[in-house]
Amino acid sequence: MSAQVVKDSGARAVLPPFGAEHEELRQTVARFVGAEIAPHVDEWERAEEFPRELYRRCAELGFLGLKFPERYGGQGGDHLHDAVWVEELARSGGSGGVAAGLNAHASIALPPIFNFGTEEQRQRWLVPGIAGEKIGALGITEPGAGSDVAGITTTARRIDGGYLVDGAKTFITNGVRADFLVCACKTTEAGGHDGISFLVLEREMPGYEVSRKLEKLGWHSSDTGELSFTEVEVPAANLLGEENGGFRLIMANFAWERLLMAVGAVGAMQRLLDTAVAYALDREAFGRPIAKFQTIRHQIAEMATKAEVSRALTYDALRLFHAGRPCIREVSMAKLLTQRAVLEIADQTLQIHGGYGYTREYGIERAVRDARLGPIGGGTDEVMKEIIGKTIGL
Ligand SMILES: Cc1cc2nc3c(=O)[nH]c(=O)nc-3n(C[C@H](O)[C@H](O)[C@H](O)COP(=O)(O)OP(=O)(O)OC[C@H]3O[C@@H](n4cnc5c(N)ncnc54)[C@H](O)[C@@H]3O)c2cc1C
Repeated sequence: MSAQVVKDSGARAVLPPFGAEHEELRQTVARFVGAEIAPHVDEWERAEEFPRELYRRCAELGFLGLKFPERYGGQGGDHLHDAVWVEELARSGGSGGVAAGLNAHASIALPPIFNFGTEEQRQRWLVPGIAGEKIGALGITEPGAGSDVAGITTTARRIDGGYLVDGAKTFITNGVRADFLVCACKTTEAGGHDGISFLVLEREMPGYEVSRKLEKLGWHSSDTGELSFTEVEVPAANLLGEENGGFRLIMANFAWERLLMAVGAVGAMQRLLDTAVAYALDREAFGRPIAKFQTIRHQIAEMATKAEVSRALTYDALRLFHAGRPCIREVSMAKLLTQRAVLEIADQTLQIHGGYGYTREYGIERAVRDARLGPIGGGTDEVMKEIIGKTIGL
């Protein structure tokens, strides 16, 4: 090997779209997550929830409002700041569940209120959301409609002064603890692309019920709820954006959600890679570190390559998104590639750790379980392939 070879596993990100200011934020997030989240993850996973207080703490440090204007209590940053937070939370935290709970609120439920809400609606939900006082969730998926978003059947019927909502949602991240739900409803008889609207439902509304908390393969520390609505009276003031214009809101939100899933996977891959390298150098078998075995070295080289390709594609999609350029194809590709890649890398890291990987000792088994959601949530692999196919004229 040449003396010129720089030894690291690729954990640098100082090139555009990121600059020095983002690196500073990255360090701050790493310190916070390392001190106040990572040491508690095992306990929160066992408890199947993290403390609600964590939202307030993250808010206090500005992490829930990075991309929102200061007049709403935000930090006045942009999507790149949010991306740094999400990537570093995944890298230093090592818990898909904690990341899901925090991000479903700040990065998935709050943006539609900021982007499509009136000033009054922003004051009601965005401001306390950024402060970590009210927790939000996004409700699109239903027991009978997941990938087929236009096929939702939860109905909001016009009544005097508002709507009467009937139906159910499932797999809702933060669904159990959420104070408000940004909820997709059918507002015409036919529903579909031109008949969906978003209403903000609040947990104290009569007829709004958390039917159950779901038990899952991974993301144990995040609550995932099933909700039912029986003649819930929702005032017209809770309509978000235009009536029957909800499909646009869904699509706008999906791009950012999918991009963030890719960014989170990039952070998780780096964590796994670092763990694998450290273990391979330390663990001995047959009288020498296992890193001396060519098969292990090649395995890690392949993992590093996969992680680097994932990072390059994701940052490219992020650059396009940040520049306001069309990026559906790149975002869908990044989502598709990274969610499989992190699952494969988690599995390879487990293999390198042998029996210890299968135990809870290094958090690798959790990483494998957590990563399995990626090819399903936020739009499945199959749906990503359909979208990519369409963008290339198929
Ligand atoms: C832990 C967790 C958290 C979640 N959080 C949220 C949340 O906060 N809010 C929310 O609204 N949703 C949430 N979801 C739902 C998630 O987005 C859906 O599970 C996902 O979109 C897939 O929908 P489905 O499960 O109904 O699968 P289905 O749509 O029923 O798909 C079943 C299978 O059929 C395939 N399939 C479907 N359509 C096609 C097609 N056209 N071509 C080829 N194959 C196809 C799928 O790829 C999949 O393999 C969450 C899910 C989980 C598990």
